Amino acid sequence: MKPLTTVEVLERLIGYPTVSRDSNLALIHWVRNYLEDWGVQSHLVPNETGTKANLFATIGPPLESGLAFSGHTDVVPVDDQNWSSDPFVMRAHGGKFYGRGTCDMKGFIATALALVPRLSRMTLSRPVHLMLSYDEEIGCVGAPSMIAQMSEQNVRPGAVIVGEPTGMQVANAHKGMCMSRTRVTGTAAHSSQTHRGVSAVMIAGELIARLGLLERELQSKRSSDAGLVPPYSTLAVNTIEGGTAMNILASNCEFTWELRALPGDDRAKHGAAFEAMCEAVVSELRREGRECSVTTEILADVPPLDGAGGAAEALARSVLRLSGPSIAVPFGTEAGQFQQAGWSSVVCGPGSITQAHRPDEFVVAADLERCEHFLQRAVQAHCVDQSGA
Ligand SMILES: [Zn+2]
Repeated sequence: MKPLTTVEVLERLIGYPTVSRDSNLALIHWVRNYLEDWGVQSHLVPNETGTKANLFATIGPPLESGLAFSGHTDVVPVDDQNWSSDPFVMRAHGGKFYGRGTCDMKGFIATALALVPRLSRMTLSRPVHLMLSYDEEIGCVGAPSMIAQMSEQNVRPGAVIVGEPTGMQVANAHKGMCMSRTRVTGTAAHSSQTHRGVSAVMIAGELIARLGLLERELQSKRSSDAGLVPPYSTLAVNTIEGGTAMNILASNCEFTWELRALPGDDRAKHGAAFEAMCEAVVSELRREGRECSVTTEILADVPPLDGAGGAAEALARSVLRLSGPSIAVPFGTEAGQFQQAGWSSVVCGPGSITQAHRPDEFVVAADLERCEHFLQRAVQAHCVDQSGA
């Protein structure tokens, strides 16, 4: 059997339209069969409805530790984007490969998979793990079940390379991201009878104003050392919906908001502060004999990454022979989740984030080649006995 090249694997992966709202199983089954062809068994961790799955696999000795290559299989939608050609048919042109997911982040996955035939023939002293997740693009909701399953099976990588697009720079930090939905239930009444009801929209407005104060407080607590932009935790309310008519006190209003917290910033503390504000508003209304309730649901909670000084960063930096500082990335990744599980993690992959999520997304061929060398040398450095025995 002839091994596929990185570009050949990428072409196949792009052919699966794994938009987060749809199933990723066709891709996952292709990967499982591909790995099986090279004698590698994989484990699937399905979602609750069985429509999607994570996949993890180990090549080499079944030891704790080892090196992991991690990528998400889902891609963002192409709706309302003006593509020059079919986004799910890879197109090569001018040293670039075009297609949805080429950059974010099937290019990295393809590079890791194309390495498998070679890995399966090597004598590894430590294992190489592959970790493919689903639903990263909608708030990193797929990876936790894979982490749990791997931990249960004593698969605990010592260093994880998360191949999100960094142009092959080493990123050791990003902010966390907590997305919440707050629902306010008021009491409907004729809008002239404000003493008989509670407008959920008015209460929501009050709560949003308080979040605004919290945002300003966060801005005053800057951290300049991690290189994050802006250098403080941010908070924003981004959608709101409520009310049914101009002359009815709204019985419902809901808004979504996100907190992007610096590594080390206590997200739970901010959440608790907001809960306390909500309770204060509700109990004040109750004292006046008016009914209102507020509930907040966390939709996604992605921990920040602070991988500075960890084994994964040290490995990536030495393999790439970096002397300058590592960078921080302005987006959330699964790396924070892996780090939270105790697995040293770093973000480093082909492609530029400025290409991700855009029409005519591409990855440059030179980046894929750099990534191939990077992964090969990382395996040599981390998973091959250097004693020559
Ligand atoms: Zn991504």
